[in-house]
Amino acid sequence: MQTNSHFEKANFRALIAEDGLGDIDKRLNVIDVFLDTEEHITVEELMDLLKKRGYDYEPDFVRQCMNRWVELGFAQKKTFEGQPPRYEHRHLGRHHDHLICTKCGKIVEFRNDEIEQLQARIAAMEGFHILQHKMEIYGICPDCLKKRRPLMPLSLAKPGERVVITDILGGREVRTRLGSMGLRPSDQLEVISNPGMGRLIVGHGTTRLALGRGMAQKILVSLNTKS
Ligand SMILES: [Zn+2]
Ligand SMILES: [Zn+2]
Ligand SMILES: [Zn+2]
Repeated sequence: MQTNSHFEKANFRALIAEDGLGDIDKRLNVIDVFLDTEEHITVEELMDLLKKRGYDYEPDFVRQCMNRWVELGFAQKKTFEGQPPRYEHRHLGRHHDHLICTKCGKIVEFRNDEIEQLQARIAAMEGFHILQHKMEIYGICPDCLKKRRPLMPLSLAKPGERVVITDILGGREVRTRLGSMGLRPSDQLEVISNPGMGRLIVGHGTTRLALGRGMAQKILVSLNTKS
């Protein structure tokens, strides 16, 4: 890989020299630090790494440098939902997809030939010629999953989460009220919206239910990781 990045830097040096931009050595320092990470990195994170190496550059300079590097095909700029843009090294002829943790932002790369072939088949069935695709799976990484309390009130569940009702607090009266809505322990719910105050909307089977926050605090749930 060392020889490859060496080759890429020489390639880049020749291309930006044609641009007529100055500060070529500074630009190559940015690229050097970027190539050493092999991560999906934001401009801010790259600035931190540059500072650790003793380079103190303006964010605009670093951004401009990275954008040129992207335009020349050495890296890709990716925007994952809910995150600032990230740059990742583009290895010619090698493709991968991503798993993204919505809690800590961790990004895991994967490649699966079956998925790739299936996508090609689906596109062909629709008469599409594929130019590019991206497969992004959002979820909760194993580390974040471990940190979760096994039981929590429904009021703390996040939109999109599937949970199982584990217990209902507050005695018979609450149980009866929930029972009249068709909710019982061991039922599965999907959280549709939970704005942090006011009512939550949950999916229960094929029905959507609006639950008051007070009620949601009395329903204890665990994450349903099976589905
Ligand atoms: Zn793919
Ligand atoms: Zn995580
Ligand atoms: Zn990647």
